[in-house]
Amino acid sequence: TSFGFKHVREEEKSQLVGNVFSSVASNYDLMNDLMSGGLHRLWKDRLVSMLNPFPGMKHLDVAGGTGDVAFRILDGISSIKRRANQDPINDHLQEETQIHVCDINPNMLNVGRKRATERGLGEDKSLIWVEGDAEALSFEDNTMDGYTIAFGIRNVTHIEKVLAEAYRVLKHGGRFLCLELSHVEVPVFKELTLHHLSCSKNVPFSCRYDYYSFSVIPAVGELVAGDRDSYQYLVESIRRFPPQEKFASMIADAGFQKVEYENLVGGVVAIHSGLKI
Ligand code: SAM
Repeated sequence: TSFGFKHVREEEKSQLVGNVFSSVASNYDLMNDLMSGGLHRLWKDRLVSMLNPFPGMKHLDVAGGTGDVAFRILDGISSIKRRANQDPINDHLQEETQIHVCDINPNMLNVGRKRATERGLGEDKSLIWVEGDAEALSFEDNTMDGYTIAFGIRNVTHIEKVLAEAYRVLKHGGRFLCLELSHVEVPVFKELTLHHLSCSKNVPFSCRYDYYSFSVIPAVGELVAGDRDSYQYLVESIRRFPPQEKFASMIADAGFQKVEYENLVGGVVAIHSGLKI
């Protein structure tokens, strides 16, 4: 492309991804709301409802950033506990819950810790912040009941390594769930999107999509984070991310079974899942 990011070397890729999340950490949550029109909140709710969290679970949220997914998991567990506490025979619910938030960027984790304190979770021992790389996790084999990665896998250098690590750390019976920006699959939706994204009906969808992704996202990135290049790179990363079926087959190749995906908003976002049996 004319943006010159097509052939970014691996070390440059890590550097760019590092830059964008360092520069944006303090404004990250605002950026998310701006760029998704608030929809990311509903998508994360859906991800966590598919996970079906339970008290005592050991969970790993990779690329967990500022804690959005982890907070939802804890909220889900708290409401189960509140209901169950009325029933004194539920002693098994006392087992220690552990929600690990793993991210490569310490600035994102720091914002997450601050948010946790604001939510009254500062002293909550079930929330554990870990600096680490999705491609080489520091967790033992077969230790997690669940693994989530939301808007994270698109940014990594080797998707296969991330999937292999997810498989390794999950227990047998553990669930892998990935929420990611994906590829629009529904023709009718493409038409609808087309009308929303542009004032002229005669411009093909791809041009309008490009207009949004290559102009609007980097512009918002520059405005909020003062960093247009990094955002242009991230847009490129969405385009290069494998389509739903291909990504599903990569998950199966990593060893997962019952691999499925669900498109949200016609495929703008997809949730892929798999079980380690
Ligand atoms: N999951 C959060 C959410 O949905 O709000 C954050 C998503 S944010 C778009 C992507 C996150 O991936 C950033 O916090 C970034 O630091 C992290 N990240 C990028 N590469 C990573 C890697 N190799 N290992 C772990 N985290 C990574």
